Amino acid sequence: MRRICVFCGSSDGTPEPLSQAARRLGTLLAERGLGVIYGGGSSGLMGQVARAALAGGSEVIGIIPHALDVRGIVHPNLTRLEVVGSMHERKARMVDLSDAFVALPGGLGTLDELFEIWTWAQLGFHAKPIGLLNADGFFDPLLAYLDHAVATGFIAPQYRNLAIVEREAEALLDRLLASG
Ligand code: AMP
Repeated sequence: MRRICVFCGSSDGTPEPLSQAARRLGTLLAERGLGVIYGGGSSGLMGQVARAALAGGSEVIGIIPHALDVRGIVHPNLTRLEVVGSMHERKARMVDLSDAFVALPGGLGTLDELFEIWTWAQLGFHAKPIGLLNADGFFDPLLAYLDHAVATGFIAPQYRNLAIVEREAEALLDRLLASG
């Protein structure tokens, strides 16, 4: 496994334990010699992961659509920035370059990315591991919803269980690396 794609929030001012978890993940990725593929932003948890991974010596590649490629959004010191034509191209490129995916706390963009990748796995379009960093129990309500969808027959248990869920970055990476 060489590169992990990270999906996470772009908003600033979110709770400090979540920023800490993002920094910890970035540091650990670097310690384990893993590169980072992500949305290329400098704000929110995205920026926290990228800065920590870069500080640890990781290769960090941002993939950003033209429309978002403006100063202030894009992280200025990435190993590489790829500018693509659309959000669709961005996601396809992220999948091509990555060996596994990790979602951290985030909002609509993060959920969109996570569920697209999860759906593609369900359909057999890729077999790359997916991890959910449930920092500070952030995803507990989402996991409860998914269990409800399993109980009511909308999601098959094996697809619900496709994603590896851990509260600590270290445990999550251990399991991702073991499954990849
Ligand atoms: P959100 O969870 O709504 O903050 O969206 C974050 C996710 O969507 C990230 O994983 C990015 O890939 C993408 N994204 C949203 N906003 C930005 C931004 N300002 N710069 C770069 N990527 C972004």
